[in-house]
Amino acid sequence: MKLHEYQARDLLEKYGIPVTGGGVATTPTEACAIAERLGRRVVVKAQVFVGGRGKAGGVKLADTPEQTEQVASQILGMQIKGLTVEKVLVAEAISYQKEIYLSAILDRTSKQVMMIASAEGGVEIEEVAKSNPDAIIKLPAHPMLGLQEYQARELAFAIGLTDTKQVRQFAQIATALYRVFVASDASLVEINPLVIRDDGNLQALDSKVLLDDSALFRHPDLAAIRDTSDEPEVEQIARQSDLTFIKLDGTIGCMVNGAGLAMATMDVVKLYGGSPANFLDIGGGASKERVKVALQIILADPNVKAVMFNIFGGITRVDEVARGIIAALEEVPTNVPMVARLTGTNEEEGRRLLAESRLIPAMTLAEAAQKAVAAAQAGA
Ligand code: GDP
Ligand code: MN
Repeated sequence: MKLHEYQARDLLEKYGIPVTGGGVATTPTEACAIAERLGRRVVVKAQVFVGGRGKAGGVKLADTPEQTEQVASQILGMQIKGLTVEKVLVAEAISYQKEIYLSAILDRTSKQVMMIASAEGGVEIEEVAKSNPDAIIKLPAHPMLGLQEYQARELAFAIGLTDTKQVRQFAQIATALYRVFVASDASLVEINPLVIRDDGNLQALDSKVLLDDSALFRHPDLAAIRDTSDEPEVEQIARQSDLTFIKLDGTIGCMVNGAGLAMATMDVVKLYGGSPANFLDIGGGASKERVKVALQIILADPNVKAVMFNIFGGITRVDEVARGIIAALEEVPTNVPMVARLTGTNEEEGRRLLAESRLIPAMTLAEAAQKAVAAAQAGA
């Protein structure tokens, strides 16, 4: 789950990170009122889930409330990288001398929380990684004790801070950032830019937070502020129906029960030269309703040229699933070829039912994958 900048900013503030004051607006009039309240120069920022808003014209300075209203009316409704701006953050504008980059990420390779800092802040870190990789400093937080004070200072020195006060402020911010990361089960907490203001103090001007969806149940307050507008509609429908669905770029729609089996299915499809159009785990007890929703989700993708069912019946009974598939097909008319490999409890009955349908039967996973790949190629 992604947080918007204004949500990330509130979260960082709770942990004592110095952020800029301001508020979020959905209309130019609201933006104007916030600027009036702040009583100073402001920056108006598009709240959309993409980086590089600055370059795209989604970040603009305004000197007066009237100008804020004007700028906000330009930014609201604007398209940035295909997303419509529905909200703007109106924040105090800061004059600064330098932009720094700072983040905490989950580094899967080293299995640690990696702190990343760069003296070349302001631009996207991927750009710095390409143009000047040596300017990126990485330091793993202590795996048992968390980010240590001396580590945070080391990071400050590594990006060239020398002023004692700035080193101390940076270390405090880095430590707080690490605490936000751990406490909210994040996979990324990023401040870019973290600026050195003209008065010498450090302040976070922009931040980005990604949360681990699997841990969201521990954070009902954060789950409640989820903005689903950037998600493909089918993924929202899938989540509402408790289906685990991830869209991919291939042509073979896969309907499988169990996450491990779903991964194995995708591997075997690949092995036989096909490419999966999705990852989908319909879970146990594949009722007609679940199969129907899952099928609708799969077929909503115009790239899908064949569908492959791979169901392993344990507690789930294969004949039930077969009935579910047949009933669902009646309600979701389609000409897309479908291959079914159903095995496990009550499989004979399941096969008998499917033999009367238009589904292409398969006995093994390999056979099903080969038939699905062939059907997809024929339909492409
Ligand atoms: P991003 O482009 O989506 O990452 O959005 P940012 O919030 O990082 O803004 C992009 C750029 O706008 C920053 O790197 C700054 O150069 C500028 N900017 C943002 N906030 C302020 C501010 O308060 N004062 C000034 N002077 N510039 C700002
Ligand atoms: Mn930024």
